[in-house]
Amino acid sequence: MKKAFDIILVMPYPFTDHPSFPEGILANVLKAEGFRVGVIDSPHWQDPREFTRLGRPQLFFAIVPGPVDSIIMNFTPTGKRRREDLYQMDGNAYFAGLPPGVGARVRPDRSVITLANQIRKAWKDIEIVAGGMETSQRIAAHFDYQQQRIRRSILLDARLDLAVSGMGEIQIVEIARAAASGTPLREMKIPGTAVNLPDPPGDAEWIELPGHEDILNSPDLLLQSYRERMRAGMQGKGTRQRHGDRWIVKYPDPPYTSRDLDRIYNLEYSRTHLSSISMSPALTMNLFSITSHRGCLGRCAFCAVRGHQGGHVVSRSSESIIREVVEMQRHARWRGIVTDLGGATAEMYGMDEDANPVHPPYLELLRRLRNREDIRKVFVSSGVRFDLMLKYPELLEEIMRHHSGRFLRVAPEHTHDEVLSIMGKPSLSRFREFCRLFSQINRGLKRRVELAAYVVIGHPGESDHHVRGMKATLRNLGVDRVDAQIFTPAPGLLSTAMYVAGSDLRGKTLPVCRESRLLDRRKESVYPR
Ligand code: SF4
Repeated sequence: MKKAFDIILVMPYPFTDHPSFPEGILANVLKAEGFRVGVIDSPHWQDPREFTRLGRPQLFFAIVPGPVDSIIMNFTPTGKRRREDLYQMDGNAYFAGLPPGVGARVRPDRSVITLANQIRKAWKDIEIVAGGMETSQRIAAHFDYQQQRIRRSILLDARLDLAVSGMGEIQIVEIARAAASGTPLREMKIPGTAVNLPDPPGDAEWIELPGHEDILNSPDLLLQSYRERMRAGMQGKGTRQRHGDRWIVKYPDPPYTSRDLDRIYNLEYSRTHLSSISMSPALTMNLFSITSHRGCLGRCAFCAVRGHQGGHVVSRSSESIIREVVEMQRHARWRGIVTDLGGATAEMYGMDEDANPVHPPYLELLRRLRNREDIRKVFVSSGVRFDLMLKYPELLEEIMRHHSGRFLRVAPEHTHDEVLSIMGKPSLSRFREFCRLFSQINRGLKRRVELAAYVVIGHPGESDHHVRGMKATLRNLGVDRVDAQIFTPAPGLLSTAMYVAGSDLRGKTLPVCRESRLLDRRKESVYPR
């Protein structure tokens, strides 16, 4: 008889054995520790029998909802359904052969809750753990923009035994080891995980968040909840949050080191899907991209990177990155081009200890790679922080000269200082300085690089007049292309708490536009369809 799997990963899109995809990493780290890992990908989730395909796992099911929250993947910021999903084959959000409809979506809304419910229908008494951005950002009571309401912890709504916060590789191995030694998931006290307990842990090592019922009564407490979660992160403490007569307890996140990343990224990845030789748009984009580091030193209010990867940077060694490049060359589609080398923002590579190095380690890394005979080109496709580029003009010049495609992408995010300061972004004058430097470098290049700027419309604090001059301002600064997106009040963000409360962290009232018609009009004034 075939031996049962220890752990079965379940995900609402095709499994990708690639280090830019969470399921690829998790499966490989577990296998490296000797666990047998099964995969149920893209199940027809409406039918519980789909979750019996591989039998019952010896230890637990692990739901991997992917790198993006399912509500963000399934809905536009103004609540319209999306028909595309970059992580599905052909980018089609619906099962092939089924007419488009909510039940035919490969990725169900609030995937973790739906998949957990269906697994429980198939296996009454099975243990379930979930992770990913969707779980991480919904561990505490949070706002769901599609439903426009506060929801309680995902641990309760999905009846999870354990939730993983952050990227999760260290946690999943600890969980599997403890489960193999007989510890029930609900009794584990593993750093970077959360559980639902009848009693709260009591000492000073814990920071209490406003309770779920208190937030329901007074939604502006989401701001306090955000502040306390960040304080807990900085002080290395856990959090507890009352939900009725239960407590959601989150253990402090484990530190990840450069050695951890080297080990994780140097496992063997085939850079393919499990069950198809064709590729999803997400795999096509990432096929030969390399993650050089995690985390970000930025404090942008609308960004989930700090909450999910950490507010400091952890980088891989250059040797580990080169090993990955060499490994990649065994892929049948390799043509000598690294399509991206970076992290949340590329140039922060190596700024683990020192946020102000005289010579940015990223510059050295780029030079090392482009001087190799086996690499034709290294692109920097991740955005770069323009304020850091002002500190490192030599790096900017080398990126423009050797590593840019048609565009260099930057994210000023807005053009009005009032809104920029609420977003936690540098002022417009800094962006103006950057644009001057950019065009000065451009004048010395044989091939001109164009500037693509990303802006967010409708962030809390923005009124019509803040957007009125945006298009002209960007044009006058020499921006060649504008990518504008309407603000998404995603779960767990500071900006979302401001959106709900209508005020900032200091209690100052902010205008908040919630009308999709007005938001569309603002966006079209910057970025006509
Ligand atoms: S700089 Fe980019 S990655 Fe960093 S916090 Fe801001 S938006 Fe997020």
